[in-house]
Amino acid sequence: MFEDPYTEHVLLTPGPTPIHPRAQQALMRPMLGHMDPEIFALNTEIQADLRAMYGTTDTTFTALLAGTGSLGMEAGFANLVENGDEVLVCANGSFGQRMADMAARYGANVRLVTAPLGEAINPEDVAAQMNGVQMVAVVHGETSTGVLNPVPQIAQIARQHGALLTVDAVTTAGMEPFHMAEWGVDYAYTGAQKCLSAPPGLAPVAISDRAMARYHARRTPTPLWYCDFEGLRDYWERHTYHHTVPVNLHYALHAALRAALDEGMLNRKARVQHVGQAIQAALAPLGFTPYVLRPEDRLPTVLALRLPDGFDDAGVRRALRQRQISVTGGLGATAGLIWRLGLMGETARPAPYRALMDALEDLLG
Ligand code: PLP
Repeated sequence: MFEDPYTEHVLLTPGPTPIHPRAQQALMRPMLGHMDPEIFALNTEIQADLRAMYGTTDTTFTALLAGTGSLGMEAGFANLVENGDEVLVCANGSFGQRMADMAARYGANVRLVTAPLGEAINPEDVAAQMNGVQMVAVVHGETSTGVLNPVPQIAQIARQHGALLTVDAVTTAGMEPFHMAEWGVDYAYTGAQKCLSAPPGLAPVAISDRAMARYHARRTPTPLWYCDFEGLRDYWERHTYHHTVPVNLHYALHAALRAALDEGMLNRKARVQHVGQAIQAALAPLGFTPYVLRPEDRLPTVLALRLPDGFDDAGVRRALRQRQISVTGGLGATAGLIWRLGLMGETARPAPYRALMDALEDLLG
């Protein structure tokens, strides 16, 4: 049965995250039409703030897609890949695999670079397979394993070979510095419900000039009409109708993004580190250990912890849920092996983790 939606809930999942209070308030604003001048003004501010969040140049086109992070992923392949293109996908977890699946569906010949679960992609493995590659795709922070992939080094290799670089920034952009222009990223996307703590349903994207040039050189139209790059520009830049954008979600994202930029990426990064270290120290005596062995491979925003021997994963999480605390287990190959504690947006606060520790002390004795 659906419970009272107004009950206080402690959401420690690796997305969605609790909605930022300023975003929650923005959801109360009255409805306006998607072609209203005020909405176009709001959208222009969102575009500028997204450029700041992604660390791009003034000419980089930014927009919100009306869908979740996966639509951001799909739009990149739909617009930038054509039948027979060679696409190298770094796949060291579930979301890298999703990228490979999507790229193949849009006609790419996919080359996979993998790594053992819990380890980052080795840039040398990427360099070894670059001959003839038109696009490299990588997940910056692999949520399924808590691994951070070395995007700056992979970007350098892509550039040296004249390939485009698509980066899944779902667990990173908005919570720590992301340097799209400096690194040489061509297409980046995230989901509103992750580091920004806005409601799910929007995918903020950034498209470099090089990616736009690739789009304009297509032999065939983009098969995904809804997210066609020029279709998006019709609405976001030329202010003509393309589709009815969810303006209420735009209000909320605008407020959450402003709050993130006001706090500053370095402060947000420090907050993640502070809470992350405290929760690891608190869980260590219970037998939780880091799943990702090399410290430099650890994704700060999703703490992957190996469960103690004999730990009743499902039972404990069920008992926590009865106390209004949501904790996420492993995904795919890591199911039953790890917990994945979110440290994105409003989740990276001491209070919700104190609530977890109090409940665990009570449950485990
Ligand atoms: N990429 C990564 C790294 C993710 O963590 C997720 C969701 O957890 C996605 C893509 C897909 O996003 P969504 O579930 O919003 O479609």
